[in-house]
Amino acid sequence: MKKIIETSDIKKIYKMGSEEVRALKSVSISVNKGEYVAFMGPSGSGKSTLMNIIGCLDTPTDGTYILNEKDVSDMSENELAEIRNKEIGFVFQTFNLLPRASCLENVALPLIYAGYNKSDREEKAFQALKNVGLADRVHHKPNELSGGQRQRVAIARALVNDPSIILADEPTGNLDTKTSYSIMELFHELHQKGNTIIMVTHEDDIAHYAHRVIRLRDGLVETDEINPNPTRAQIVQIEE
Ligand code: ADP
Ligand code: MG
Repeated sequence: MKKIIETSDIKKIYKMGSEEVRALKSVSISVNKGEYVAFMGPSGSGKSTLMNIIGCLDTPTDGTYILNEKDVSDMSENELAEIRNKEIGFVFQTFNLLPRASCLENVALPLIYAGYNKSDREEKAFQALKNVGLADRVHHKPNELSGGQRQRVAIARALVNDPSIILADEPTGNLDTKTSYSIMELFHELHQKGNTIIMVTHEDDIAHYAHRVIRLRDGLVETDEINPNPTRAQIVQIEE
């Protein structure tokens, strides 16, 4: 199994004036290519801090982080941005779509930074939207879509660059139960296709989809366990 993420004794200290917040005290985890991992733990335990470091949005104060065989612990912001564009697909609780842009334009956005020409961008974005079941919503604006459809657009955008890892921070946090399950079915399919997924969630029935659950508490890993029996929602209803 190829290791895609390895953090060794990483620490994160936020400095606020004379105050210091030790958000991560010592975190050592490794994730193999193709794994589906859920991060759980109480509010303030360091989940988002860890996701930000794994996603190259931030660097650790101490310790090393190896992503896809590259040491990214001490990279400059420019270097990090390049790695991020190439390796990471982000999905957020609040979708983070551009309201004035069409679905196609939203999904094509990461490809601008990757240097594709316009027709290639549009073709790839269309395929990504088709893969999440939105081929007929290409020219719609985000506010013309349901919450579940918006999150599908965000997932298409995360995937359009064929990243090494998909990072999702509470992706179902703004969705009703039925829609949450349909989004989780989509993540399940992505995992079946070989994608590596790390997801933060508060909800047990969402975490049950993952094949491994890492619980954080006070900036430390409390438990790191394989889920012997990943379960999907009993009744999966199709989103209207
Ligand atoms: P979680 O996502 O598990 O709720 P976070 O990683 O957001 O936890 O936060 C961990 C700790 O670090 C908390 O005490 C939080 O207040 C603090 N923290 C997070 N981000 C910052 C920041 N940018 N500046 C200062 N403190 C922060
Ligand atoms: Mg958080």
